[in-house]
Amino acid sequence: MSGKLFIVATPIGNLDDITFRAVETLRQADLIACEDTRQTRKLLDHYGISRPLLSYHDYNERGRSEQLLAELLAGRSVALVSDAGTPLIADPGYRLVHAARLAGVPVSPIPGPSALAAALSASGLPTDAFAFAGFLPPRSTQRRKTLEQWKALHATLVFYETPHRILEALVDIDAVLGLRPIALARELTKIHEEFLTGTALDLHAALAARPAIKGEFVLVIGWAEPIPDEAESLHDALAHLTSAGAARMDAIKQIARQRGLSKREVYRLLETQSP
Ligand code: SAM
Repeated sequence: MSGKLFIVATPIGNLDDITFRAVETLRQADLIACEDTRQTRKLLDHYGISRPLLSYHDYNERGRSEQLLAELLAGRSVALVSDAGTPLIADPGYRLVHAARLAGVPVSPIPGPSALAAALSASGLPTDAFAFAGFLPPRSTQRRKTLEQWKALHATLVFYETPHRILEALVDIDAVLGLRPIALARELTKIHEEFLTGTALDLHAALAARPAIKGEFVLVIGWAEPIPDEAESLHDALAHLTSAGAARMDAIKQIARQRGLSKREVYRLLETQSP
């Protein structure tokens, strides 16, 4: 009988964000595979857990996957964790899970926190369809190409970003995606948690004005629906949307929704207001 591989989600900041099952699974695992043993040791100490740890990260994934598979095939249970959040979500683990499945070893998720779900759920942007693409490429040319690929998708886009690249990423988002509503989640579940909202340029100005840009970021980008500008006349708003490619009827529907009016009221106001 082979052992079982558990994919265990751990906190993304606040140490209380861990499930009872996750704690119990870690307590009972024969072996815990983790990215940084010091980081995981802190979590385990907090919960009074003492189990053998084995490092598993981007640079030793191949060799360690074979070693961990051998442990599983020998009947031992392995819990895989990452430094924060859900393993395999912009984190290592794919090679091991793939190998375990190929070998017929059972793999079970112990779900919990992920910065992706946390940011998206509180962003205020549409969640019915979204695309997550991990980190944007570090260099501008490649980053713009990636953004171009996502541009036409009618879905909310979610990216992870680092503090030292966030300003350049916002410049590229403005250049490629244009006016879109963005929620920038910073330091989720931590003391300095915040959500900044606005266009890419609004957020750029807000961050650039700070003495230092610190923390972890998730970019949640709404699709081509422009930020409602209450000061804009209805005729201008309509022209704005139709010139961006929207059909007249869709544009009127959107203006009505944005301004809390019925479609009939929008039609009536368009007739009575001068262009
Ligand atoms: N596996 C993790 C998860 O499930 O969210 C993500 C790991 S990835 C290597 C780390 C990135 O996730 C950070 O650079 C940041 O973009 C995002 N992230 C992780 N924790 C965060 C937090 N507390 N607040 C905002 N973003 C966070």
